Amino acid sequence: MKHIGEQSNPACSGCGVCAAVCPRRAISLNLDDAGFFRAFVQEDRCINCGLCQTVCNRFSPITGGKDLRDSSLYALQSDDDGIVQRCSSGGIAHELAAACLRKDWAVCGVIYNTEKDRAEHRLITSLEELPLLDGSKYLQSDTSALRRVLDLAMSGNNVAVFGTPCQIGSLSHAAERLGLRDRLLLVEIFCHGVPSYKLWERQLEHMKKKLHADRFDRVLFRYKKDDWHSYCLRADAGGRSFFGARETELFWQVFFENILLGDACFGCEMRKTKSLADLRLGDYWGRRFQERKDGVSAVFAMTERGEQAIRDLQLRKLESGTPEEMLLAQNMEGYQNRELHDAAMEVLRREKDILAAVRYYRAREGTKQTIKRALLRTSMILPDELRAKLRKANSSRKLK
Ligand SMILES: Cc1cc2nc3c(=O)[nH]c(=O)nc-3n(C[C@H](O)[C@H](O)[C@H](O)COP(=O)(O)OP(=O)(O)OC[C@H]3O[C@@H](n4cnc5c(N)ncnc54)[C@H](O)[C@@H]3O)c2cc1C
Ligand code: SF4
Ligand code: SF4
Repeated sequence: MKHIGEQSNPACSGCGVCAAVCPRRAISLNLDDAGFFRAFVQEDRCINCGLCQTVCNRFSPITGGKDLRDSSLYALQSDDDGIVQRCSSGGIAHELAAACLRKDWAVCGVIYNTEKDRAEHRLITSLEELPLLDGSKYLQSDTSALRRVLDLAMSGNNVAVFGTPCQIGSLSHAAERLGLRDRLLLVEIFCHGVPSYKLWERQLEHMKKKLHADRFDRVLFRYKKDDWHSYCLRADAGGRSFFGARETELFWQVFFENILLGDACFGCEMRKTKSLADLRLGDYWGRRFQERKDGVSAVFAMTERGEQAIRDLQLRKLESGTPEEMLLAQNMEGYQNRELHDAAMEVLRREKDILAAVRYYRAREGTKQTIKRALLRTSMILPDELRAKLRKANSSRKLK
């Protein structure tokens, strides 16, 4: 069997590049029982050409590419305070996309679709649409738009594409294979991993109840209410707003405790230091900028095309550290407790109940984590300013 069949399913990251290249349109991306996008092949359409396996980041692991530790690192910020405020770190994704649109390139990035309550890749061609891409949506995106990206590149257009390392890694494979790599600027983000849509559905239910609404006008995953470090989840509906703190919201708790990240995110090689992208963007966490409230982006340039894209921009350039120092503040190793994760995922698949899976996990994870969680919840009685200081003290303790 040459297609990405059942055998790849447990490891499928749902990047969707197989579906974008399949000449028979035999592959669709659907949510599985645990709430993750996975590729499904319609056997009667498949001609066993094998293209899907060649581009898949799971079947064709990284060969080539560059290590972040051998790449240039910049500490950057947009020179527009409004853009820094509404983006997740320093607004570099916005500035890169704006520069590409001004050169008549198309841009493909991720929007939050308020009708479907999903994250999805969207192709845009005008600066008016660009704010839709601002800010990280901490969900797995529907990548159906990638087929159109390849079509555009094939007809001679340039496209800048933003995505997670698994999406960008597979797209890079596909572009190389189709002779289109020079037409694309590939920008990936540092990736913690993505949580289950079952968790998001639970969070949506809670927020809709609070706002007495069926649909949101806007959802912001990292509204910078008072601090870049705060991870404030904001949803607006009918002139009212919901604000949820990192300490209280089930969505953030489960995300940061790594309880139900995708199967593919555990053991993911693409999120580590080897990269097939032109640029990688992240939060410049760590001691260097931790007293700042606004947000600074760490930008790694792996190729000359990436270097050029950064050189073209009018930005605030701050003094960066070494790649090694920056990477210390990121989890580059992967996650522990694989067995417990798999067992909790099994509970989720069987019982279709996110709370049952979370309870199962928490009951077995050990006293240290239980105490840590209780302390985190209790810290909500402290003023915002003091909580921000505690968070920063905790992150520099981890770096020692
Ligand atoms: C799921 C996820 C996990 C992340 N984990 C980390 C991490 O562990 N460490 C770290 O330093 N940074 C992480 N980031 C990246 C970080 O949140 C910022 O996106 C990054 O610092 C760039 O910030 P910015 O201000 O330049 O752009 P932003 O305004 O944040 O724009 C983000 C860009 O990424 C794209 N994007 C948004 N949501 C998604 C999505 N769901 N999937 C794919 N692409 C998307 C948008 O198209 C946009 O172009 C993560 C982002 C996501 C979406
Ligand atoms: S083997 Fe070819 S035809 Fe079959 S699913 Fe993969 S890309 Fe499509
Ligand atoms: S951790 Fe890896 S598999 Fe999971 S979304 Fe990120 S890049 Fe993809």
